[in-house]
Amino acid sequence: MIMQKAYRYRLYPTDEQRQQVTRIIGCCRFVWNRLLEYSSKSYRRRGESHSTFDLNNFIAHTLKPAFPWLSDAPAQTLQCVSADLGAAFKAFFRKDAAYPRFKRKHGLKKSFRIPQRGKVDADDNRIYVQGVGWVDAVIHRKPEGKLKNITVTVNPSGTVYASCLFDDGSEAPVPKMPESPRVLGVDLNLGRLAVCSDGTDYENPRTLRQHERRLKHLQRMLSKKKKGSENWKKLKHEIAALHEKIASIRKDAIHKMTKSIVCDSQADIIVIEDLNVSGMMRNHKLSKRIQDASFHEIRRQLEYKCLWHGKMLIAADRFFASSRTCHICSWHNDGLTLRDREWVCPECNTRHDRDRNAALNLESFGLMVLAGDAGEVKPPEMPTVDGRAAMHLRSMASVNEEKNRGCSPEASRLA
Ligand SMILES: [Zn+2]
Repeated sequence: MIMQKAYRYRLYPTDEQRQQVTRIIGCCRFVWNRLLEYSSKSYRRRGESHSTFDLNNFIAHTLKPAFPWLSDAPAQTLQCVSADLGAAFKAFFRKDAAYPRFKRKHGLKKSFRIPQRGKVDADDNRIYVQGVGWVDAVIHRKPEGKLKNITVTVNPSGTVYASCLFDDGSEAPVPKMPESPRVLGVDLNLGRLAVCSDGTDYENPRTLRQHERRLKHLQRMLSKKKKGSENWKKLKHEIAALHEKIASIRKDAIHKMTKSIVCDSQADIIVIEDLNVSGMMRNHKLSKRIQDASFHEIRRQLEYKCLWHGKMLIAADRFFASSRTCHICSWHNDGLTLRDREWVCPECNTRHDRDRNAALNLESFGLMVLAGDAGEVKPPEMPTVDGRAAMHLRSMASVNEEKNRGCSPEASRLA
């Protein structure tokens, strides 16, 4: 597997360039929606979508002649839209995602991608974006390797970023597992960022809570303003900027944590809970959505960082009740609620920190997976194509298996 790294740079477009970026995003949205309409017809008739090749032909021979303004956007960028739609349909057919949806003009995610032709000029702090030209940027880190593509994103607050994917030509290291690998259980949770079985804790940054309080306050104020008024717009913008700030603080903390878990902990194998854990946390609050997003990001980072450093990541199945089981005697605490930060096991009298107990259980789970039946260490398998896709498919498969067999606390396979 070849190593690719994405570098994200802030862009400072001129007013004219910003308008052009908006135009290109508009073209992409329009093309996406038209292609989706076109594909949906085929899906209803024949139960399958069009190939990317067909979609590209549809753009070139039907859409472009009818809507000449589409040539505002580079042809390759529009072809990326058909590739993305193709991927969205593939995910839908694999049952990994819902049916692709139409893009709204005021949707949150506004971006477009340009394959190949871009340039990152670290000396002059600028990036060449095809269809827009040279845009001022802050190149805070010199990229290594060959540029594969650039994704330009406009956030709700109006800030613009370029995410540049580079390929340095090296191969991911093959994991070398020692005879008795060290296993680290990592419990992710709402209060603390993560608790590890080796005694390490990772806390959320203190500033995060302050900003979140301020965000709540601003949102309350917004509800009292007249919708569409100047003050409403101003406040709306301030809220968007604060959202962005909170997201970047969180992401930064997660980056530091995942780096530390992978590089400082000296573990060979890292065990986390699978994403769809904890039916007990199922609620419709905002905090839940944020938490889901954080879990997703933590897992994504652990996956690629493990890959870079030749380590292995295991995701424990969702039916593995890690916080409720005593890690000493395996007594099952059915009465445990989210509020109980600590509990005492009636069987062995151990006082448990809820999160640490969960982390220790994850560690034992990792050892169990490794040991197999005969107590031998299995050679770890690394995903060969796309680590993420492989892991996701595996865990989906094991979930489906659970459904068919009825719910047993069976473990997921090696990820
Ligand atoms: Zn116990």
